[in-house]
Amino acid sequence: MKLPLLFAACLFFVLPAHAQHKHGEGQLDVVIDKDSVTLGLELPLDATVGFERTPKNDKEKAALAAADKVLKDAATLWLPTPTANCTVQSAQVQVPFTGGDDQHAQHQHEGAAHHADIDARYVFRCANPAALKSVETTLFKHFKRLYRLEVQRVGPSGQGAQRLTPKAPVLSW
Ligand SMILES: [Zn+2]
Repeated sequence: MKLPLLFAACLFFVLPAHAQHKHGEGQLDVVIDKDSVTLGLELPLDATVGFERTPKNDKEKAALAAADKVLKDAATLWLPTPTANCTVQSAQVQVPFTGGDDQHAQHQHEGAAHHADIDARYVFRCANPAALKSVETTLFKHFKRLYRLEVQRVGPSGQGAQRLTPKAPVLSW
C-alpha cells in the first residue's frame, strides 16, 4: 500500500471508535492527507429505508436498492470546495440485506431488537488541495429520516469534531 494511503488508514485509528447507533444519527470520519480525502460513513439502516431486517416485499427490496444506488453516487453525495478540484477515486458501500451475507451487519441490543448498519467509504483526490476547506453533503436531502451526522475530522490542520444537520450540511475547517 502506498505510504500516503497507509498514513490515511493509520489516521483512522486515532479517531474515536463508534458507539452503538442511534436512529436518525450517522457517523462520519474524515481523513485529509495531502491531496486525498477519505470519508468513512456509518448510518443506521433505519435512517435510509425505515427498517433493519430482511425485506418482506418487493417495495422494501426496491427501497434498499434505491438507497444503495444513492450511496454509491459519491460525486452527488459529497461536494468538496469546488476550487479544490476533487474527483472521486473510489466508493465502497455495504447496505445490509441487499443480497450478500448480511449476518455481520446485524447486531442485537437489549430487548432483542435487531439493528443493522450501512458502512461506506469514499476516496477523493484533489488537484488543488490547498483550496480544500470544506465538504458539503446532500445526504439529508436523500434520507429524510437522517437528522444528524456526527463528524470526526483529522488532517494537516489537526483534528476536529462537527455536527452536520439538514440545516447545516457543510463540514468546514
Ligand atoms: Zn437500529
